[in-house]
Amino acid sequence: MQENCGVTTNFRLPGPTPLPPAVLQAMQREMIPHRGSGLNELYTSILKRAREIHRTDGDVLLWPASGSAGWEIAVVNLLSPGDPVLCTVIGDFGDRFAKVAEAFRLEVRRLDLPWGQALTPDKLKSQMERNPEVKAVFLTHNETSTGVTNPLPDLAKVVRDQGALVVVDAVSSAAGLPLLMDEWGLDFVLSGSQKAWMCPPGLTIVGVGPRAWDAYQRSTYPRFFWDLGAAKDYALKGMTPTTPPLTLFYAFDAALDLILDEGLENVWRRHARLGERTRRGIKELGLSLFEDEAFASNTVTAVAVPEGLTAKQITQAMKRDHDVVVAGGQGHLSEAMIRIGHMGWCDEADVEGCLEALSSVLAELGAERRVVSGVA
Ligand code: PLP
Repeated sequence: MQENCGVTTNFRLPGPTPLPPAVLQAMQREMIPHRGSGLNELYTSILKRAREIHRTDGDVLLWPASGSAGWEIAVVNLLSPGDPVLCTVIGDFGDRFAKVAEAFRLEVRRLDLPWGQALTPDKLKSQMERNPEVKAVFLTHNETSTGVTNPLPDLAKVVRDQGALVVVDAVSSAAGLPLLMDEWGLDFVLSGSQKAWMCPPGLTIVGVGPRAWDAYQRSTYPRFFWDLGAAKDYALKGMTPTTPPLTLFYAFDAALDLILDEGLENVWRRHARLGERTRRGIKELGLSLFEDEAFASNTVTAVAVPEGLTAKQITQAMKRDHDVVVAGGQGHLSEAMIRIGHMGWCDEADVEGCLEALSSVLAELGAERRVVSGVA
């Protein structure tokens, strides 16, 4: 629950997510010199803890930008114009990643699946066998637009077996779902601060493994602001190439402490509980999940809108009558689903409150419903 000018909002968007009080408090801090020891210590300590959360001995680097910048950072540092790549698309964000690849004149091969489904290793394998020359495969770990988590460790193995780079959009999974960069063989992982990291929007977080650094040496794209090498050279000195977004660093510093104090595996377990509770509540309401339940996400749940209603009717009534903020769908499915975020600073009471509001909104709107167990 979020206290805002005396109004308590249950903010259940799948990003941005609510900010814990410690993160809000951290942002009150004054500026410090960005070329001094204060920043050196702060940045070095932030990167160390971010590596821990990526479960990597490789590098983690930060930019002041939103998650989308991570797609561009991947392309201009790991590839060269005309390189063949395989873009796997299970929803709107995979589609956007493919569009970035096209914009940079990569030779894009697409593997599209119906939205709501996950990419399975067998489908990826047969597509890779038809395209053995691809240099990189772009994977979405958690497709926020459909509430699906891809089976990333198995997919990464298929890609590696063919020698291509494993490039992962982890915007809505990092710091919420298990993500073991080194163990799973992920070469490049990108995310954004406004999701399970419990920070305001504005930081792009990038994990870079050894094979990605080799690819960086071969890449011929022009780049300046997004240059991985420059970011790493400065990071080794506890600095960033340009003026860092200090207030976001303060926020990230506080959020990293919260995650590690709770324990990363406890954070994953909490997200698993919240995902399970949300899905159970949705079914108890007589509603259907939009996504294939076998691959349902533990950070966001997509709920199929019952016949005769629109997503907008539901989201507006939840906000107006219950102060619960949820999202509609994206792209061509904007009215087909509502999406409930349960990532980052979220607990059981937030999910119960959201289900309760959904239950009474369905009644107000005249949709058939059942009562959620445990809710009056
Ligand atoms: N990838 C995924 C899976 C996302 O959920 C989002 C945003 O919601 C993005 C990429 C783009 O991130 P941003 O909006 O921060 O640029």
